[in-house]
Amino acid sequence: MSWEDSAPIERPCPCGTGQYVVIGRSDDWNRYEERWEMHCPSCKEKYGLYTYDYNRKGMVSTYHCWLPRSLLKALSVAAEELEEANKALSAYATAHFRERWNTHFIGKAKKAIWRELTEDGRHYPSLPTFYLHVRESSLELQLARYFDYRELPTVVRVLQLSASELHSRIEQVRELERMLEEKHSHARHQAFV
Ligand SMILES: [Zn+2]
Repeated sequence: MSWEDSAPIERPCPCGTGQYVVIGRSDDWNRYEERWEMHCPSCKEKYGLYTYDYNRKGMVSTYHCWLPRSLLKALSVAAEELEEANKALSAYATAHFRERWNTHFIGKAKKAIWRELTEDGRHYPSLPTFYLHVRESSLELQLARYFDYRELPTVVRVLQLSASELHSRIEQVRELERMLEEKHSHARHQAFV
């Protein structure tokens, strides 16, 4: 399983006076990677490498391109803001609804709990998987999982909180998420390759 570098390919840099170099490498398992190196000193100052994965029919490919450093910085600030908003959302939900959530399931059979959590099996996990998870950890831990920000819509559904502050906070964070995706897609259109 050895990686082998291909011959470096030289391409013109964004300012047009120098170059950047792409070195591909592949292994016996048909894995392929690229390393992009900016060789133009002035572009190296202005541009940074932006890497993203693109999923086409289940095949994930990694792409590279050059973006102005100011744009890269804006993207990473926006990503940090989203991360903070997600954490704050989980903390808010835990502080206000965790107890009610636990109380809601007290005295219910595991299968009935599973039916509520998954809307009769319409969502992950399947009943055998749920039983397995409960056996391997505990029901309490499995219920706690729903306070991860990604799982909060289930809490909203089960506790019927669609008119609550929690629900509107989830919508606000979703909006941040959509905006970040848009920024990324916009950035990719401005990219230099
Ligand atoms: Zn240049």
